[in-house]
Amino acid sequence: MVATGVCRTDLSVFQGHLPSPFPIVLGHEGAGVVEEVGPGVRDLAPGDHVVCTIIAGCGMCAPCNRGEPTLCVRIAFYTGKMFDGTTRLTRGAEAIHSLSYQASFAEQAIVPEACAVKVRADAPLERLAGLACGVSTGLGASMVRTPVEPGSSAVVIGAGGVGLSVLMGARLRGATTLVAVDLSGAKLAKARAMGLATHTLQGEGAEVIEAVHDITRGGADFAFDAAGVEGTLETALESARAGGSCVAIGVSGGGRRAAIDPSLLMRQRWLTGTFGGSIAPRHHIPLFVDLYMEGRLDLDALMDSHYCLDEVGRAFEDLEANAITRGVIRFASPADEAPRRS
Ligand SMILES: [Zn+2]
Ligand SMILES: [Zn+2]
Repeated sequence: MVATGVCRTDLSVFQGHLPSPFPIVLGHEGAGVVEEVGPGVRDLAPGDHVVCTIIAGCGMCAPCNRGEPTLCVRIAFYTGKMFDGTTRLTRGAEAIHSLSYQASFAEQAIVPEACAVKVRADAPLERLAGLACGVSTGLGASMVRTPVEPGSSAVVIGAGGVGLSVLMGARLRGATTLVAVDLSGAKLAKARAMGLATHTLQGEGAEVIEAVHDITRGGADFAFDAAGVEGTLETALESARAGGSCVAIGVSGGGRRAAIDPSLLMRQRWLTGTFGGSIAPRHHIPLFVDLYMEGRLDLDALMDSHYCLDEVGRAFEDLEANAITRGVIRFASPADEAPRRS
């Protein structure tokens, strides 16, 4: 591992909000260099730079063959086990589980080939870690699941790392009105500083819906709920224009219900959701890396807080306090990261 992002899902497992076996090594936004490959590995070799995607599609099932690996019937995120039901880590005789096939909060990891996406070796791996999960989720929402149209308007509820990634994708697709909504003034300031929002709204509920309808003259063409807390899906749907689209991205906590007025759907709004941005990792992650290397995707500003592995507790505290956009744990010095020839 060269670097790993710190995602809210790690924190949720740590706090017991997601069902998970213990003991477990957390971390699911790893980026690193292949040291060894096991038998049967075809497409990777020692020295390859990889981003470890959360979308470890099996490649064999019907959804995988439809090009929808995010719906793979074999992916099981919180079992802590590999596809074959075994674990790869042990402490004495005790099995240690791996979160999302990765366990990237460690200097070394054993991952399935399907989880390791080869990327160009001239890209700095510590900037790419977010492409394993959060950044790809946001980019995919506005570029893949519901491709935003040139000249359109897009609103995102929740301006954290995922929400800002939604806006980056929408801007790349040519949206000209970009509205960021959050309760945190600091997050909205970041959205403005990154040039990702033509408008920012600090607030929630009816006041936000009214303001979005004013800005967009009748409702946004595309609305995204990247917050996934009480009331935000309703706010996103009601912010979309008649015939517009609303996409659920973040869902925090089980048991929550949204109260949707069916008449909003009779006015031909689309309501859908995405897991992991609905990307096909081996296609989209290298494409996102190219966009970054061309200077069109500002991952430097997004991955804004850095820690060493011993500081993962502090990274969780900063995440919980909403003090950071995206935290990255760095393992190796840049010299260690230099590409090696196999
Ligand atoms: Zn994640
Ligand atoms: Zn599959």
